Amino acid sequence: MDKSARIAVIGAGIAGLTVAGLLQKQGYRVAVYEQAESFWRIGAGIILGASTAKVMRRLGLEEGMVRTGICPDAFVSRDVETGAVLNELVFDEAAEARFGGPFVNIHRADLHTLLVSALAPGTIRFSHHLADIRPASDHVALRFHNGHAADADIVIGADGIRSVVREAIQGPATPRYIGKIALRAVFPRARAAGVPMRDCTKWWGDDRHLLSYFMTDRRDECYVMAAVPSDDWNAESVPAEGSSDDFLAAFPNAHPDLKGLLEATDNVSILPICDRVRNDAWSEGRIVLMGDACHAVRPFMAAGGSMAIEDAALLSRAIELCDTPEAAFALYEAKRIPRVGDVQRISVENSWLKLPGDTAWFFGYDPFADSLDLAA
Ligand SMILES: Cc1cc2nc3c(=O)[nH]c(=O)nc-3n(C[C@H](O)[C@H](O)[C@H](O)COP(=O)(O)OP(=O)(O)OC[C@H]3O[C@@H](n4cnc5c(N)ncnc54)[C@H](O)[C@@H]3O)c2cc1C
Repeated sequence: MDKSARIAVIGAGIAGLTVAGLLQKQGYRVAVYEQAESFWRIGAGIILGASTAKVMRRLGLEEGMVRTGICPDAFVSRDVETGAVLNELVFDEAAEARFGGPFVNIHRADLHTLLVSALAPGTIRFSHHLADIRPASDHVALRFHNGHAADADIVIGADGIRSVVREAIQGPATPRYIGKIALRAVFPRARAAGVPMRDCTKWWGDDRHLLSYFMTDRRDECYVMAAVPSDDWNAESVPAEGSSDDFLAAFPNAHPDLKGLLEATDNVSILPICDRVRNDAWSEGRIVLMGDACHAVRPFMAAGGSMAIEDAALLSRAIELCDTPEAAFALYEAKRIPRVGDVQRISVENSWLKLPGDTAWFFGYDPFADSLDLAA
């Protein structure tokens, strides 16, 4: 599409920031509208597979991401009660060469800071909460709760699981509470001194699991996130504070290595885990969705952020290649929906990396090398 196209991105999350950075690198004019007044440091980590490193490389951010986060030595799967090692996927130089990039764990706020650093100054318009979106024949009209209005030639809805842009395409529907809550905690490693902790471990129980990992290679701060069944929450429940007692109650027969970590947890927060029923209507006319706005998955494969970043690569490539928004979005959907569908299915199964298996299709994927020739 012509480089003079005015592109509006709704939402400055992982998806919106990544696509804005890539489109600006291609020479497009992009404005990102974010409802928040500013960014704040959310206490949580994120796991990013090697496919995302290829996108960060394109933005000139791969080195910064590796320096700021940690490249774990392995992803280890252990049984919650016996502690038995079920799988160990080693991330050494050979794995990095095989996958074409590193596997990185990082603090979400650090990832945000990196992505923002790739944008031209003034790109993000904070305090712009989208209220209304109206397609016209040659543009889309946007109206925000702060009274501001804007027109765009293309609107990218990157506004997360409760997307307003999504409603314009798919109609209203609430997110689905999956019957599990997430317990999260970030705390100093010193609180668990003497407790063995590998760089990145997933502890598997029958109907619950827990991830523990470091977010920097100083290894002085631990992040744990558990997914635990609960009938007491719903999709509208607001996040609550918790304590180490909540973790300990959720894993009453925890192996001593895990119990030691749970006893040390601090700054505990609890939130309902939601996803959405799959709906593959991702675009209409000049409006397109990406990230959680169109494919919110349960976080059991640790892949929602990676999928948002991959979306950004394919969407920016399709916009540059095609003459019209409709053609670009059809190409983007054709490339993304099958892969995202696999991730949605595996996330529901909650089977990823539990046992040894093929991982190259996921980590080895290169969103810039993937052919855009649908006939090929
Ligand atoms: C507990 C948990 C753990 C997870 N762990 C991992 C992991 O390890 N690895 C991984 O890859 N993924 C993980 N995920 C998934 C990942 O966090 C999401 O898939 C990812 O954040 C989606 O990014 P996004 O940019 O699409 O949406 P969001 O991050 O939700 O960003 C949306 C943005 O849009 C803004 N916005 C919303 N509505 C409006 C509006 N009307 N107007 C303007 N702005 C608006 C929001 O303020 C926000 O900034 C996890 C998710 C959860 C819940």
